[in-house]
Formats: sequence, C-alpha cells, structure tokens
Amino acid sequence: MLCLEKFGNASPGVSTDQKWESKMQIPNKTLRSGLVLLLLLFVGCQTLPTSDVPTAGQSRFSESQYVEYIVGNLPVIISAPHGGRLAPPNIPDRARGTFSTDVDTDLLAREILEAFHKQTGKFPHMIICHVKRIKVDCNRNLQDAALGDPGAEKVWHDFHGFIKEAINTVINTSGEGLYVDLHGQSHPEALLELGYMISNRQLQESDEELNALAPASSIRDLLPRTDVSFLELLRGKSSFGALMQRRGIPSAPSPAYPHVGDAKFFGGGPNTKRYCARDDGRIYGFQMECPKQGVRDSLANRLAFADAFAEAVVEYLKMHTKLVW
Ligand SMILES: [Zn+2]
Repeated sequence: MLCLEKFGNASPGVSTDQKWESKMQIPNKTLRSGLVLLLLLFVGCQTLPTSDVPTAGQSRFSESQYVEYIVGNLPVIISAPHGGRLAPPNIPDRARGTFSTDVDTDLLAREILEAFHKQTGKFPHMIICHVKRIKVDCNRNLQDAALGDPGAEKVWHDFHGFIKEAINTVINTSGEGLYVDLHGQSHPEALLELGYMISNRQLQESDEELNALAPASSIRDLLPRTDVSFLELLRGKSSFGALMQRRGIPSAPSPAYPHVGDAKFFGGGPNTKRYCARDDGRIYGFQMECPKQGVRDSLANRLAFADAFAEAVVEYLKMHTKLVW
C-alpha cells in the first residue's frame, strides 16, 4: 500500500513511461536494465494484495460479524459496548445482570468517528459491539459478561481482542493514547458523566483525600505528561469536563459540577479500569456516560455532541501531551 502510494504519486502511468523510454536515447545497457527493473517494481507494487491490510476508516468485523472494529490512525481508542441491536438466537438471554441498552450509542460512535475525520482528516480507533446487552455485557468480567455461554464468550473475546489490537497499534505508532469507553444513561440531571474510577462520594471528599486517589484513577498516566495537578485535570479549567462544558455540554466533574450532589453518577467501570492505568503507563482515559436529554434525543443533538467531543479531545491532548497532530 505504501509502495503503491509512493510510486503512484511520483510517476505518471506505465504507458507514459513506455512512450518516454522509446523516445529517449538510453546511454548504456546497465541504465536500461535499471529502468526496466524500476518499471517491474512499479507494476509489482500495484499488484500486491492489499485486502488484508487494515486501512484507517475501514471496518473490520469479527468472524461472527457481531463485533466491528473501525481501524484508526489517531492516538484515540473509543469502545461502545452497550449499543448493540442484534439478538442472535444461538446466544441465550442472560439470567442475571444489567440488560438495558445504551440507546443509539452505536450511532453516536460512528458520528463521533465522522466528526474526528471532518476535523482532523484522521480516524480514532472505534470498537462497537452489535449484540444486545441482554446477550453479553462487554463492560463486565468474562464470567458476568457471558455466564458461561460459549457464543457470548466469543463476542466478549472478539470485542476485547479488537481493543487490545487498537491499543497495540496506538502504542506502536504514537507511544501513548487516550481510551474512552462510550455509554449512555438517562439520569434526570442530564449531565455528561465522566468516570475516572472516582465515585461521586469520593468527588465530595477533601482535596487531600481526593489527591490520594490519583494513583487509582484512569488518568494516572496522563499526570507525568501534563503540567497541571491531578485536581486540575479532574475538575479544573483544563479538565475534559470543562472543555465539554465550554462547548455547551453540562459535564461532571468540571468547575461547574465538581460532583453531582445526591444524584446518581457513573464513576467508571471494568473497561476503564482494565485499559487505563496499565503497567506500561501509556494509556489514560475515562468512561463517558452520555445523557439522553440534549445528546441522544435527536440526530441534530448527537451530531452537535460528536463535533464537540472530537474538538474537546484534540484540545485536551494538545494541552496535556506532546502528541503530534
Ligand atoms: Zn453502558
């Protein structure tokens, strides 16, 4: 692919080259053979099989077709575990757990991808589970996710296999990256809830107590990269919540909502814990719980949110990291 682009951009077509060669006086036999070899290489490059080369912006599916991985080329990985609409009859409904679908987060995921592409010309890595949550919960450990059913286990493995692949690609290409686990909730306060593995109760503790939670938070590994303190990164003017708030999306934690008082709040789940604050210290992020009201209640609101989110991610990473865009 690289080979094709390189030669494709630099040379005119083969037939033009042939015409050029026939008109020109080629000085010696060695040069002539060299040109023939170059021509052969050029033709060879065009016939290289490219079907198994992942291209940014293209979808790959698991064998079952139940899990989709849209390959990216930005240091951003987004997973959507709870927006699935498929109910394959070969996977039984789970007997226990949480079953509610995060409605339209599968659509929102794709709209976010398109917003990134519109703004940056590049794509985040996006992993979407298309199976309903009553069949498998890809934001739980394997046992709770699948309750022992092999079909559900396969979906879980496919989903997490793609996330691991995306993380490896991001680390290999950029050295570090942001992971966001995308969800939806319907709490009446309609805040964007950002889960850093810090609960609402913990958000209401003293600065000293809250500071002590930094090593367990999902932005632990952003701290050595940024100039700001943990509390600033969590709920200050340069927090992700502040950047979204500034774009018209009420968010917690942020300067406007350092916590949510007595309201319900999702502080981060198993995927956020699993993929942020890893041993290698290269992936940081959060769980993002999008409200229904104002975000997932219309196409226009979803598109506005997707634009705001992509902008805020770029601003956040430019502000706190040395990643090159
Ligand atoms: Zn969810």
